[in-house]
Amino acid sequence: MRCAKCLRPAVHVDQVQKIPLCELCTSTLVKRRFLQWLRKGGPRRIDNFVVGGRGDLPSRVLVALLEEVERNYDVTISVVEINAEPTLNNFCYEKGLKYTFVKAYPTTYTEYRLMLTQTLNQVGDDPLVVMPDTSEDLIAYTIGEVLQGNLKGLSIDISSRVAYPFAAVSLKTIAVLFPHNIGNISFLYTVSPVRELAEDLLLSIPTFSFSVIKTLFAIIQAIKQEKDIKTCALLGSCAAVYGGSPR
Ligand SMILES: [Zn+2]
Repeated sequence: MRCAKCLRPAVHVDQVQKIPLCELCTSTLVKRRFLQWLRKGGPRRIDNFVVGGRGDLPSRVLVALLEEVERNYDVTISVVEINAEPTLNNFCYEKGLKYTFVKAYPTTYTEYRLMLTQTLNQVGDDPLVVMPDTSEDLIAYTIGEVLQGNLKGLSIDISSRVAYPFAAVSLKTIAVLFPHNIGNISFLYTVSPVRELAEDLLLSIPTFSFSVIKTLFAIIQAIKQEKDIKTCALLGSCAAVYGGSPR
């Protein structure tokens, strides 16, 4: 199998475009999607990024990529790792990133997100929270928790600016690019009760993953607007209080 872009040997088939890609073209594509989705979180020229780590492969790759793309900008990157044991401490030390470790054993996305929200209260200063969720993670979270009526984990999206740079990158792609790191692929996805269902649907209905992820972001948007409406009603007038741009 040859890469559809450059004819080098292909290492995997891209789930979105359904074309075989070599390692180099896969890496370029991942970085492009990473930047596109990072921008959707609304980073500022001078910003304070807080990366959510959880001891899995996407978290490691996320911190490394973010450090690489933001190295020359006036931003601060801190990492909050919620895990049974620290795994990102050495990397953060080497790169001079602020590191906070919370020893905990979340077993659902909601638990993890609530723990991260609590820790953010200590970080303060309106950070841009950068989540490690891949497309599989977001699908499992949406089907297994949000659509079951468990919306508590979305509180982080309501109270903070949040970016999901891996929303259009699959776990499988990350595993292909970083095979030496394959030990802990994504614990929360592995234990998700809907993992097999999500994988079956992904195989049989290729557009499914986009629809589910779109649904998640539509729900977040709807709750945010609802919150704004309630806030405005309480305050009487958005424009008078916030100068027309409520947050
Ligand atoms: Zn190629």
